[in-house]
Amino acid sequence: NIPVLTIDGPSGAGKGTVSRAVAKKLGWHYLDSGSIYRSLAISALDKQIDLQDIAKITLLAEKMHLAFECDDVLIVSLDGVNITHRLATEETGAAASTIAAYPEVRAVLLQKQKDFRRFPGLVADGRDMGTVVFADAPYKVFLTASALERGKRRFKQLKEKGIDANLDKITHEIELRDRRDRERKAAPLIPAVDAFYLDSSDLSIDEVINQVIILTE
Ligand code: C5P
Repeated sequence: NIPVLTIDGPSGAGKGTVSRAVAKKLGWHYLDSGSIYRSLAISALDKQIDLQDIAKITLLAEKMHLAFECDDVLIVSLDGVNITHRLATEETGAAASTIAAYPEVRAVLLQKQKDFRRFPGLVADGRDMGTVVFADAPYKVFLTASALERGKRRFKQLKEKGIDANLDKITHEIELRDRRDRERKAAPLIPAVDAFYLDSSDLSIDEVINQVIILTE
């Protein structure tokens, strides 16, 4: 049985950075499940499909072809076109969050995610990796941080890009998104019962990585 380490939690908790670093250290594959929802969102936006049209979005999910290349950075191709530079935008994130709420869409994307489980192991980053997609994973982490701490990290990222931002506003938006994610019917964001709960608010990124690595030893 190929081992899986699941890392779930809210956005901005550092899942991506931690998952990539841990996958590299262990020599395991890496699944950024959010990028699958984001890729589908890009496809829908490009084809000008109404995001409320569940049947069309579900069909699109069945048909889309995704290819991932992971070295130090993740490169994603959608139907043969490199869409990496479009994955992280706010527009993509908002559309991804809308379509991720449809159980029909989640059902189609389930197998695409399971296919990432390959020898010698997989680090899977997302919202429902430990509760749904890899419920049988031997190692599970729920990585979180306070809304204020996540707001500060986001604020810093925006500043570095030269984008003007307001910390109170960002933190408030994070709190709203947390509530939406927790309360949505399809795959609500809750820790798996057997997950190791890790609050990164007062930890450095290296401390978090080390704690996660220790779990797999
Ligand atoms: O993690 P990331 O911000 O890239 O995820 C984009 C969106 O996809 C999130 O808003 C979340 O609602 C959704 N998502 C999900 N299940 C996952 C990963 C992401 O519902 N496993």
